Amino acid sequence: MKYERQRHEMVKNQIEARGVTDSKVLAALRKVPRHLFVSEALRDQAYGDFPLPIGEQQTISQPYIVAEMTQALQPGEGDRVLEIGTGSGYQAAVLAEIVFRVYTVERIYPLFVKTRKLFDELQYHNIVTKYSDGTVGWEDEGSFDGIIVTAGAPEIPKFLVSQLAVGGRMVIPVGNQYSQELIKLYKNERGIHKTNLGGCRFVKLVGEYGWSEQ
Ligand code: SAH
Repeated sequence: MKYERQRHEMVKNQIEARGVTDSKVLAALRKVPRHLFVSEALRDQAYGDFPLPIGEQQTISQPYIVAEMTQALQPGEGDRVLEIGTGSGYQAAVLAEIVFRVYTVERIYPLFVKTRKLFDELQYHNIVTKYSDGTVGWEDEGSFDGIIVTAGAPEIPKFLVSQLAVGGRMVIPVGNQYSQELIKLYKNERGIHKTNLGGCRFVKLVGEYGWSEQ
C-alpha cells in the first residue's frame, strides 16, 4: 500500500534519523494512518516533514514534533493521558496505540465533532473526547499519568499541574504567540522538575488560563 510505504519512510527518515528511539512510539507512528487525519485534498502530503492545515486556522503538527512530544511523555501501557487540543486527532491516536486511555479536549466545535466521528470510524475505543476549554483540565477524571498540551501557552496552567499524578509527566509549549519552548514537567513527592526540550512553534492555546480569544 502506498501510504503504508510512505509511513515507514517517514519514520525512518524524519523520526529515527533525528534520534527518537522509543520502540513503542516508533511502532505507533508506523501504524496510525496519518493521511486519514487530513482532508482528502492533502492526503498525498500527509507524510511530509511539515505541519498541514486542518481548517478553523488550526494545524496538524509535523510528524517529528508528534514523535518527540510522545517520547518525552514516557507513555506506559497502563497510563491515562490527558491531551489539550484534539485538533485532527492524530496525536491522540498515536497515544491511544500505546496507553490505556486518552482523554482529549477541543475548544472549536466543528473540529471536536469531526474528529470524534473519525475516532468512531477508526474504532479508537480508548479515546474519550470533550468539547471544552482545556486550560482548566478535566477535573472529574482526577489525576493523569501524562498531560500533553498541543497548543502554545503563555504559562503553564495551574490546574493542569494539579491534575498531574505523582510520578506523572507533562509536555507543553510555553512562550509568546510566535515561538515557544517545549517544556517537560515531572512531578514527584518532592515537587516539580522542569526541563527545556528546545524551541517549537504551535498555534495559540486559547482559554481562561491561556491566551484571550483574538
Ligand atoms: N493535537 C492536534 C494539534 C492540533 S492544533 C493534532 O494532532 O492535530 C491545536 C488545537 O488546540 C486546535 O485544534 C485548537 O483549537 C486547540 N485548542 C487551543 N486552545 C484550546 C483550549 N483551551 N482547549 C482545548 N483545545 C484548545
